[in-house]
Amino acid sequence: MAKKQTAGRTLLGDLAPKFAELNDDVLFGEVWSREAQLSLRDRSMVTIAALFSAGQYPQLKSHLEIGRAHGVTRQEAVEIITQLAFYCGWPKAWSAFPLIREVYGEEADGAADPAGLSAFPLGEKNDAFAQYFIGQSYLAPLSTRQIPVYNVTFEPGCRNNWHVHHASSGGGQMLICISGRGWYQEQEQAARELHPGDVVNIPAGVKHWHGAAKDSWFQHLAIEVPGKDGRTEWHEPVDDAQYRTLK
Ligand code: MN
Repeated sequence: MAKKQTAGRTLLGDLAPKFAELNDDVLFGEVWSREAQLSLRDRSMVTIAALFSAGQYPQLKSHLEIGRAHGVTRQEAVEIITQLAFYCGWPKAWSAFPLIREVYGEEADGAADPAGLSAFPLGEKNDAFAQYFIGQSYLAPLSTRQIPVYNVTFEPGCRNNWHVHHASSGGGQMLICISGRGWYQEQEQAARELHPGDVVNIPAGVKHWHGAAKDSWFQHLAIEVPGKDGRTEWHEPVDDAQYRTLK
């Protein structure tokens, strides 16, 4: 959910009260808040693109900050400017990159706020399973009836330990990738790179792990496939040196 915007009234309320009201109540209050139509992160990305194209650098910097709060990573901001440099002008890119450096600093992308990664809720820090994860993950139950569905969010570099979803019949797990970039790997297999829209079918009894790329947030829905005697058996963490070789 977008924070209530007060920048208009704070900065311009005395000079241009109607403009301030329209900015805070209509632009942010009514348009930006239509998250069911377009997520905050997506709205930030198109706004960054528009301001870059127009050469509006002070506004661009403000919207890089807003975008960061909406889950746009530093790498994504760099990628937006890299692509648009061809359409909007090379010198504009030279002017925009220092703004990204100012807003994001040298921090890992993990410092961005993941709340706006997708239309699904982020949920709470995944403390119950933290012992089986490296790095910070978040868990949001979307459905706890009929078929259990969870939204799982991994910060950059976060992944779960090797594990097996057991069942005496049926069972297993499905992942539906919705945001960022991640990895899935089954034992003795090469890791598979994951992007939004990818679906992973994990049979019961197969040892595997899933998680984020080292430089990107990652979010997937996890669906518990109905089965008999379902339980998850946790194994060793993913070897760090091996994980680091994944791009
Ligand atoms: Mn799994």
